[in-house]
Amino acid sequence: MSHVFPRSMKSSPPRAVRGEGCYLYDDTGKAYFDGSGGAAVSCLGHGDPDVIAAVQKQVQSLAFAHTGFFTSEPAEELADLLISKAPGDLDRVYLVSGGSEATEAAIKLARQYYIEIGQPQRRHVIARRQSYHGNTLGALAAGGNAWRRAQFAPLLIDVSHIAPCYEYVDRHDGESAYDYGQRAAQELEDEILRLGPDTVMAFMAEPVVGATMGAVPAVEGYYRRIREICDTYGVLLILDEVMCGMGRTGHLFACEADEIAPDILCIAKGLGAGYQPIGAMLCTRQIYEALENGSGFFQHGHTYLGHPVAAAAAAAVFKKLDSQNLVSRAAMMGEKLHTALVERFGQHPFIGDIRGRGMFQGLEIVADRETKTPFDPDRKVSARFKTAAFEAGLVCYPMAGTRDGKYGDHVLLAPPFIMEDEQVTEITDKLAQALATATG
Ligand code: PMP
Repeated sequence: MSHVFPRSMKSSPPRAVRGEGCYLYDDTGKAYFDGSGGAAVSCLGHGDPDVIAAVQKQVQSLAFAHTGFFTSEPAEELADLLISKAPGDLDRVYLVSGGSEATEAAIKLARQYYIEIGQPQRRHVIARRQSYHGNTLGALAAGGNAWRRAQFAPLLIDVSHIAPCYEYVDRHDGESAYDYGQRAAQELEDEILRLGPDTVMAFMAEPVVGATMGAVPAVEGYYRRIREICDTYGVLLILDEVMCGMGRTGHLFACEADEIAPDILCIAKGLGAGYQPIGAMLCTRQIYEALENGSGFFQHGHTYLGHPVAAAAAAAVFKKLDSQNLVSRAAMMGEKLHTALVERFGQHPFIGDIRGRGMFQGLEIVADRETKTPFDPDRKVSARFKTAAFEAGLVCYPMAGTRDGKYGDHVLLAPPFIMEDEQVTEITDKLAQALATATG
């Protein structure tokens, strides 16, 4: 028996020993197609020689230098690369070790920004129901997933939650997608007015919702309206692209498709592609300068900020995405995957919706397509789906719906961008097998 503290004490997962391309192998030699890139992490697949070489080179020359004393070349290079392609006025990059650290830092930066510019009464964060922003207490408070929050509720800061933009579930019959988006966005303005506009500091949302909804983008116009509302009331827009950023949606940054730019952007996962743990928070020059001209420091920090080896890995990932046109490839292969999913499951009695952007696709599993009724949570369809897919040699990311029946089970797919045509069929075949077992 190992002394590792596992994710779940109810299961004993196989031991992964090797990764190559789109596949992971366990210690019995069984191959698994990495159809979710873990959790939208492994965008380059496994064993990428260029990233490995960059990590090896960096660890030999400089493994670590604390940012309390030094900057480092890889951190500077990575920040410059990110800013060279970042949307809007994003100008500074704060390098952390993962997604929750990025979103947590974003909340604290928003708060400090308003203190620095003399508006300390701004302390409210608004986020959305059925969202996930991480598991540290601030990030968990911003997240709107009832199950993840439940037992920690007494420890969480007070965050308001408005409805997500979830066309499949919330658009009324006869309502256009655009009108629905405007109605959903209106909830933000209503909530700002309810709280008092001069008390709200930030609105946080995922452009394409990952873990809690299964690759759900907003409808056309929603985010433009959100941006307008934030600007009207001086509320900072924090976009969480921890899952959907770094090319995953077929755009380097997911918000490009929504034609907006945030004040603060959080990325992680695909940034290091799994070769190193790394995340980043990008902020505008205006926010940065408020701190620079004010107290002169951000009252935050972790030991591993700007870790040289992690930054070197991420810089190598970034350069690979760029030199091999892998973001365009994600758009192109994502289109093929989406088409194959629609062909295979578009009329399936238990698949209610197939959506997503690029290599970020989701399937909504329902008991009844006509009424969009989810399966009874006690049937544990998503858990059974995960097990059945895994047995068939497919890693995918199924998530249970909510107990109130509002949101159903879904499966998230986020394969490596290097996936080949024949692997599209491998995914759909294995999904079909898992779906039959899980709903049988
Ligand atoms: N934000 C989003 C949108 C995420 O999907 C996740 C992780 N699933 C996080 C934040 C937290 O990232 P991490 O697990 O790296 O802390």
